[in-house]
Amino acid sequence: MDCIFCKIIKGDIPSARVYEDENMIIIKDIAPQAKYHYLAIPKKHFADVTEMTADDAVLVGNMLRKIGELAPSLGLDGGFRLVSNKGADAMQSVPHLHIHILGGEKMSDKMC
Ligand code: AMP
Repeated sequence: MDCIFCKIIKGDIPSARVYEDENMIIIKDIAPQAKYHYLAIPKKHFADVTEMTADDAVLVGNMLRKIGELAPSLGLDGGFRLVSNKGADAMQSVPHLHIHILGGEKMSDKMC
């Protein structure tokens, strides 16, 4: 499968990995849109939230909990914003579910 995030997970494409467990990786986004901008990416490939099975929902729930646990060590003590784009209107550019983690500074009160 020609998926850039699958290649990053396999190590075929380098990334700045800040966390890894059996289910996910967290990397620094290559084009940060906040002082700290990470991507939490499940190792299992599925395109977006509309493709999640019930098991995937458990996996993503555990990812969210882990993000919360890791936040202080990622410089996100002051809070953070989570975003997961789906489809063209949301400008999703990589069709492998991922959660943007943004923070490290005061963000706009507008979502877009
Ligand atoms: P989205 O537009 O929601 O699909 O988000 C994809 C994100 O992946 C964008 O914020 C890109 O900057 C980021 N991205 C693309 N390629 C890489 C890469 N090789 N390493 C890190 N982040 C990447």
